[in-house]
Amino acid sequence: MSIEARFHEIRDRIPDGVSLVAVTKTRTPDEIMELLRCGHRRLGESKVQELLSKYEALPSDIEWHLIGHLQSNKVKHIAPFISLIHSVDSLKLLKAINKEGKKNNRIIPCLLQLHIAQEESKYGFSPEEVRQVLEDPTYLAMEYVAVKGLMGMATFTTDHARIRKEFSELRHFFETLKSDVFAGDPAFCELSMGMSDDFEIGIAEGSTMVRVGSAIFGDRQ
Ligand SMILES: *Cc1c(COP(=O)(O)O)cnc(C)c1O
Repeated sequence: MSIEARFHEIRDRIPDGVSLVAVTKTRTPDEIMELLRCGHRRLGESKVQELLSKYEALPSDIEWHLIGHLQSNKVKHIAPFISLIHSVDSLKLLKAINKEGKKNNRIIPCLLQLHIAQEESKYGFSPEEVRQVLEDPTYLAMEYVAVKGLMGMATFTTDHARIRKEFSELRHFFETLKSDVFAGDPAFCELSMGMSDDFEIGIAEGSTMVRVGSAIFGDRQ
């Protein structure tokens, strides 16, 4: 199947109101151009270096999302143009984003990444850590970051009940934060959950944004 055919097939399975981020890591500019010809403009990359080279090589109307771990010292490279950073996992990183946002005079939209999977991972906050960050005076003084919501990756498993439970817990935490810490602020509205193998579970559990790579472009090497 062509990229175009797969894209339309995926697009048809995503309801209005849920955004599709097409994950282009490891894909060539030619493959990405095939997707762009379908009219899609929202792309996600995991690594800053790869994102930058594609940002330079591809059309300027693309909405770029960073979905992978970000080191504080690399924020400066993406701060001028990034649409959404899904993978904020420390207060230190938020500080760096705020600093670079200020330099570029733009408020940078971010999601806080939660560690919801059973697998060990260095990345992602616990719910308690998220609450600590959101109460931290340093965070409260930041004028150039906008925390728009949460992101999480479920355990890599064929156990759908497990995935559903993890997404459901994240959704519940999102709703709780929305009503207490964010006091119903409509700007706190994004829940990024679901990838190629589990985006339909994510959507069923309240995802507003799915990050889909291999289901559109084929298996990665
Ligand atoms: C690679 C990646 C995806 C997309 O994975 P697929 O299984 O190819 O859809 C989504 N989110 C993150 C954070 C990723 O690193």
